Amino acid sequence: MSSPKNVLLVFLASNGGVDGIQSAHDGENQKHGLKNLVNRTAGNLIKKTQFAIPPLALMILASAEVEGIRQQICDLRFEELPLDAPWDLIAISVQTGTASQAFRLARSLRDQGFCTALGGPHVTLFPDSCQPHADVLVCGEADDLWKKVLEDLKTGTLQPRYTASALPDLAIPRPVRAGLFDPSRYFTTNVIQTGRGCPFSCDFCNVHVLNGNRLRQRRIPDIVDEVQRFREQDNSIFFFVDDSIDASPEYAEQLFSQLIPLDIRWFGQATTMLGQKPRLLETFARSGCVALLTGIESIEQQSRSAHRKAQNRATELARNIITIRQSGISLYGSFIYGLDGDTLETPSAILDFIRHTGLDVPGINILRPNPGTRVFERLREEGRLLFDPANLDAWRYTFGQELLYRPKHIDPHDFIDSYCTLTRKIFTPLQSIRRGISAPAAGAAVTLFNLFYTYLYSLSRRDLRLQQKKSL
Ligand code: SF4
Repeated sequence: MSSPKNVLLVFLASNGGVDGIQSAHDGENQKHGLKNLVNRTAGNLIKKTQFAIPPLALMILASAEVEGIRQQICDLRFEELPLDAPWDLIAISVQTGTASQAFRLARSLRDQGFCTALGGPHVTLFPDSCQPHADVLVCGEADDLWKKVLEDLKTGTLQPRYTASALPDLAIPRPVRAGLFDPSRYFTTNVIQTGRGCPFSCDFCNVHVLNGNRLRQRRIPDIVDEVQRFREQDNSIFFFVDDSIDASPEYAEQLFSQLIPLDIRWFGQATTMLGQKPRLLETFARSGCVALLTGIESIEQQSRSAHRKAQNRATELARNIITIRQSGISLYGSFIYGLDGDTLETPSAILDFIRHTGLDVPGINILRPNPGTRVFERLREEGRLLFDPANLDAWRYTFGQELLYRPKHIDPHDFIDSYCTLTRKIFTPLQSIRRGISAPAAGAAVTLFNLFYTYLYSLSRRDLRLQQKKSL
């Protein structure tokens, strides 16, 4: 019998957010040597506060069982690459923000004699530019495709490119293995996906591009089973990673009704329209939902229309948020400032909105025109990108540390001034404590997250000011 083949699945650390933030200008400006040291220390502290969650895509791949194949995940946010083992294939998951890093690593591994594969969203969107960097490309949702790759690895018939012929039917049971990660490193390892796809088409988002506009859902008994199995390994909170856990209210109602007896605590992502679904909202609260993340994006109707944020009218947002909070669920609300309907009046409107709704954790993002989205193509055609679109390093920083385009109605200098003023007003230690005290649930986490953002936005202001001086 031939010896088993060993496969390593690699997840890269990005240069920001929960991975331990770095300044976009670290190392460039010696005057800020002390600040750089402080930032590195704070970055390490942020890592240790454990907001990180494990990479679900790699958990799904590692759960594919093929006889004669052994798989292991390496999360480079916490581990070194174990290159002393005889890996038959090393596969790297690639997001646009980590693409340059992934390509460098793949080339170096190839030079050391390892067979390498690349997959993930960036590879799916841009296979031709990724092909030269690895032996094998895996394009598309790889739930079924990955087994074919593993079979071919076994028989020595690996092909240079594998492309999913269709979006997988998620109703076919594909249990995700529990216990793949050390729970002490993460906010939670209880990461569950109930479905994929989004019926909406916001132009700054590529979820609908990658996963399609049709909602594909898993079977409810498979999810209930997964929750039970995961809970045996990690007793912490569950994270339902779906982009809109309320996208199908009937399905969500059935699923979370069945989770009530399991007595878990959970958080997830939902639309603000949940505020108009009282029955579902009550079921969420009864099933242990303590917090939801919601993409508010813009409170300006003009901006919502300009970017195809079709669901939910601006006038309904505040009422929905207040209703959701009244049900005992804390809300993280994510805004994008700098959309095409925004003006210099927008920041004070955002500030009033946050005060009025009592939003527990506000996220104030600058529009990121990611490659593969419609807004990227439009801004490129309109000559509004402030960077070379071929330079993948422009997306290294996942947080709002750089302005990547010219806002439509606001001069870039004025935009940075107004963005910095807005975040300075929203994020202070005192506001963080106040929000934690008034949060309907998970007050300690709300305080901690606001404090984390207070630091992160101070760094963002510093980087944006440097960009103002250097290149605007
Ligand atoms: S932003 Fe949300 S609602 Fe809009 S397309 Fe993306 S996932 Fe769907």
